[in-house]
Amino acid sequence: MEAVTINRRWCKGCGICVAFCPKQALVLEQEKAECRPEKCIVCGMCELYCPDLAIVVDKSLKPKKAVKGVA
Ligand code: SF4
Ligand code: SF4
Repeated sequence: MEAVTINRRWCKGCGICVAFCPKQALVLEQEKAECRPEKCIVCGMCELYCPDLAIVVDKSLKPKKAVKGVA
């Protein structure tokens, strides 16, 4: 399951999410946002900034940080 779900019916292709994604994980394809999951860090910025509520980010799928001090 992908962490970022984009509702293509609600997406108007404004590009705001593309501009705010800190990892350049979002692109516009045929005027709809698409996520490149291999770049996504599941930060949730795109969900916050989409004015059309077209993005849902499942934070439970955020990659776990490495535990420091463990060899
Ligand atoms: S901010 Fe929302 S409406 Fe705009 S391109 Fe991204 S998903 Fe689509
Ligand atoms: S969750 Fe963060 S890294 Fe992933 S697509 Fe959205 S803004 Fe980009």
